[in-house]
Amino acid sequence: MSNPAIQIENVSVYYGQTPAITGICLDVGEGEYLGIIGPNGGGKSTLLKAVLGLVPISSGTVRIYGKEAKGSRTVLGYVPQFSNVDKNFPITLNEVVLTGRMKAGISPLFRFSKSDREAVSKILEKIGIAHLASRQISELSGGEFQKMLIARALAMKPKVLLLDEPTASVDASSQEQIYRLLDELNKNMTIILVTHDLLAVSSQVKRLACLNGKLVYHGEPELSEHVVNSLYGCPVDLIAHGVPHRVLKEHGEEKTE
Ligand code: ADP
Ligand code: MG
Repeated sequence: MSNPAIQIENVSVYYGQTPAITGICLDVGEGEYLGIIGPNGGGKSTLLKAVLGLVPISSGTVRIYGKEAKGSRTVLGYVPQFSNVDKNFPITLNEVVLTGRMKAGISPLFRFSKSDREAVSKILEKIGIAHLASRQISELSGGEFQKMLIARALAMKPKVLLLDEPTASVDASSQEQIYRLLDELNKNMTIILVTHDLLAVSSQVKRLACLNGKLVYHGEPELSEHVVNSLYGCPVDLIAHGVPHRVLKEHGEEKTE
C-alpha cells in the first residue's frame, strides 16, 4: 500500500473485562473506499471509535497518516451511528452543520467567521441540502437529517470520512442519494463505511472488512458462503434481505432439494 491513511496494528478494545475487538490488523490506503460489515455487537462501532480516539485502546496502535499523535485526528470526519443531536432542540440545519467548524477550547464569545459560513454554504450545496439551511431540524426527514450529519462531518474538510450505518433508518431514495454522494466524495477522500446493507457493500465499496470481534475477512467485496457463515453463524438469507446473490458466490442452489 503506497500511502496508508490509517494503520490499525493489533488493536484490542475492552469494556471492563469484556473484549469488544481483539487483535485487529487493518490498513486503509489513501483514496480507499472500505466497507465494514458484521453482526450486531461485532465491534464495528468500537473499531471506528478506536480510530477516532473516542474509546481507549487496550493494546495495539492506530496511526493516522503515519502519526500516533492525537492531533492527527483532525483529518478524520465522523458520522456516528447514534447522533448526539437532539431532534427536538430548536436549531436550524445550517447551525448544526456550522458546529462542525468549531475547534476544541473555544471561548464563550466565539463567533463563526465569514469563511466558516462560506465553507458551510458550499458543503450544503454539494450535498444538495442548501434549500433546507434555515429549516428547524425537528422538521427534517430521516434522510435529510442524515445528510445534515454528513455535511457536519465534512465541515472541517477531512481527508478521511468514517460513517457508522448512515443509511440505517432512511428511505430507499435517500439511501441511493447518500451512496451516490459517497461515491462522488471518494474521488478525493478516503471513506470507511460501516453498514448492515450487503447490497450497498457489494455495489459501492472497493474493499470489504468483516468484523466479528476479530477480523474475519478483508479483501474484495465479494463474499463466500463460508465467510458469511463464520461471520454471522446464521443462514445468509436472514441477513441479506433477499439480495444475497449480489455478494455471495455459489449461493446454495444445490440445497433446494
Ligand atoms: P457493533 O457496532 O458491531 O454493533 P459495538 O462496537 O457497538 O458493535 O459493540 C461491540 C461490543 O461491545 C458489544 O458486545 C457491546 O455490547 C459492547 N459495548 C459497546 N459499547 C460499550 C460500552 N460503552 N460499554 C460496555 N460495552 C460496550
Ligand atoms: Mg454499531
